[in-house]
Amino acid sequence: MYTLSELKQYTTDQLAQHWLDGNYPFDIIGSCDNCLTMHAGEGTCHLELRRALYHLNPSVATLSVLLPELYAIRQQFQHLYTSEPEQLEQVTRESRELVAV
Ligand SMILES: [Zn+2]
Repeated sequence: MYTLSELKQYTTDQLAQHWLDGNYPFDIIGSCDNCLTMHAGEGTCHLELRRALYHLNPSVATLSVLLPELYAIRQQFQHLYTSEPEQLEQVTRESRELVAV
């Protein structure tokens, strides 16, 4: 995980590459395959997150300016990244199979 102060040291180009690589805080949400900034436009998934990003318009040019705010939003919506229903279901299924054996 990258800290905000770490990322603030990045040049615009480095930050753009970091974004393209999908590194934290621009990593992908498994359930929709969209990163944080991909929720800034129109769409139907994760409406709460979209609402938080609504007033921002992240682009390569504005990324470093918006970074503190984007980082805070990424932390605020951490639960979208960690509790993937599919994974939870799989774990449950596996533990049930273990019990059955
Ligand atoms: Zn989404």
